[in-house]
Amino acid sequence: TLSGFKEVREEEKSQMVGNVFSSVASNYDLMNDVMSGGLHRLWKDRLVFKLNPFPGMRHLDVAGGTGDVAFRILQSLNSVSRRAVQDVLQDNLQEETHIYVCDINPNMLNVGKKRAQERGLEDRSLRWVEGDAEALCFEDASMDGYTIAFGIRNVTHIEKVLAEAYRVRDNMTRVMPQEVMILCSNLPSCVQLYEDKIAPVVTISSYIAIHDHHIVEHAADHVCPFYSMRSMFHDPADGFQFKKVLKPGGRFLCLELSHVEAPGFKQLYDYYSFSVIPALGELVAGDRESYQYLVESIRRFPPQDMFASMIADAGFQKVEYENLVGGVVAIHSGLKF
Ligand code: SAM
Repeated sequence: TLSGFKEVREEEKSQMVGNVFSSVASNYDLMNDVMSGGLHRLWKDRLVFKLNPFPGMRHLDVAGGTGDVAFRILQSLNSVSRRAVQDVLQDNLQEETHIYVCDINPNMLNVGKKRAQERGLEDRSLRWVEGDAEALCFEDASMDGYTIAFGIRNVTHIEKVLAEAYRVRDNMTRVMPQEVMILCSNLPSCVQLYEDKIAPVVTISSYIAIHDHHIVEHAADHVCPFYSMRSMFHDPADGFQFKKVLKPGGRFLCLELSHVEAPGFKQLYDYYSFSVIPALGELVAGDRESYQYLVESIRRFPPQDMFASMIADAGFQKVEYENLVGGVVAIHSGLKF
């Protein structure tokens, strides 16, 4: 069936992305410099400048890979003058800073941990978390900021990632009556209208008690496709609600390779990405295919305006973007109110 086909393709995509990043992990930082001529450093600096980190913040860097963005956030915080920190502390913001680097690929995280050691950044504020951007496992309304740099392009469902960043739902969700019958046999439930029928509404606790991924994912696919219920299985002990990753007022920032439109520059950029980058991948990392895949994924990524609409559709306000180098990369941002 079509949906069967789609599932296989999606599975293939996430497997392929996994293979690509396992394969490039050890050369990843060198290749970033080679391919962008070092510009990725300035782009990440710009991202962190726009984030405007503050002491005491809780920040989540998703698809954080080898830690580049997290290191910059820490460095930016460390460079805040003592005086300013003192003021902040007096303002009762004594809570510790936490910067979480979340990535699905343990190889990338391991390279990141080593780099942190080498740079003397084994800060207790820095936490490395293996996890999926489509199904995050963080506390309710726990983050002041969320960044994702060169990561959203590689995920299977962009909408799920955006919904996870925002998490619009409250601690109840609607599911199909028949699923609820199975899920809730002897679990607490309440009732809410769903498509003119009386349908039970179950809390996450009911699902956790079931421990059956298939039933839950089936329900999720039918009723709230933008919300992956898999997240609850990451830590069944940590509560029974859908969790809102960003706090109200939290900032979402996404740095991503994007689309160049200016005539002349576009042809040059196309030549560079389709011919030069795979050749560099082969020469420097001995891996043409992975870099070919990365280039193709850039072309498939939605153009700036369309991606901005997707962010707004996820619930974010004040969505805007800034093109850098004529759109080679763009920084999209949004606020959660
Ligand atoms: N943000 C880092 C940077 O800018 O240097 C790393 C970017 S790297 C191009 C993309 C990262 O996304 C890889 O580390 C990969 O493992 C991660 N990734 C891909 N799919 C993911 C997912 N579903 N959830 C979390 N991370 C994912």
